[in-house]
Amino acid sequence: MKCSQKEIFTKGELVRYGPIELTPSSGVLNYGQGLFEGLKAYRKEDGSILLFRPYENALRMKMGAERMCMPAPTIEQFVDAIKFVVLANKRWIPPTGKGSLYIRPLLIGSGAILGLSPAPEYTFLVFVSPVGNYFKEGLAPISLVVENEHHRAAPGGTGGVKTIGNYASVLKAQKRAKENGYSDVLYLDSVHKKYLEEVSSCNIFIVKNKVISTPELKGTILPGITRKSIIDVARGLGYQVEERPLLVEELLDADEVFCTGTAVVVSPVGSITYLGRRVEYGDKGVGVVSQQLYSALTRLQMGLSEDKMGWTMLVLTA
Ligand code: PMP
Repeated sequence: MKCSQKEIFTKGELVRYGPIELTPSSGVLNYGQGLFEGLKAYRKEDGSILLFRPYENALRMKMGAERMCMPAPTIEQFVDAIKFVVLANKRWIPPTGKGSLYIRPLLIGSGAILGLSPAPEYTFLVFVSPVGNYFKEGLAPISLVVENEHHRAAPGGTGGVKTIGNYASVLKAQKRAKENGYSDVLYLDSVHKKYLEEVSSCNIFIVKNKVISTPELKGTILPGITRKSIIDVARGLGYQVEERPLLVEELLDADEVFCTGTAVVVSPVGSITYLGRRVEYGDKGVGVVSQQLYSALTRLQMGLSEDKMGWTMLVLTA
């Protein structure tokens, strides 16, 4: 779908996956004017197909577009485009429990612009790919390292929206962490350098004495849809959940740590290294709370438990 600054998007078309044409002076290539989303389609045991909270992704893209001076597709256009692409690719959706179809909506400044300014034209597109586990560890606990040199976001910046540049800035620290044997990087805030923010592509939670805590949203971390869902699921299971500033030292005596995200779902953290000190959790096993939340969320997403919240959307009945 395409549109210019003040217009609304026209109806798009389905094209075979492949290279797209882009002018070298496009806003996205020169000034990083781009946003993306990530969500998944799951196959139920009876063969029907479910999307998980697509309206939340549509709203987050709308919010991000405002920050990045871009027009956004309407909520209906966003969800319809996703349904359309998912249905066209339904043969790629794995059976229940064997993976899912990852959906990547992308909004880019595709028009030509030489001086620094919002692009005159925009393109919204959606592509998909079947996926399994995000981390090579699968469901086994991952290892994180607290990053002390680089920061992911600064107050007043774009850390709270899913803009493409945020990911370019984490590549170096993530590459170094992986070379040193860690699964990913855990970022601290850029002002005090002592509060937890998030991991390169997921939100972080700690569990202490059955209380679950996660950093509050204050514009520098992504408002994860899995984060929001897990907070509700955990409260529904009777846990106390706090959104508050989390000191990095709190990692040292946490009972469990886990990450949440569309790609990582609920990933238990087995160890965290901070200033050369390695802390291990749960005797390298998956913590009870992480396991319980993983199971509650994935059962809901795959249509294996009753969806009392109305979070899943049926796109194809068996
Ligand atoms: N933080 C960052 C930086 C991310 O890229 C993601 C993945 N979208 C998340 C958190 C988790 O967000 P969600 O649960 O919506 O996938």
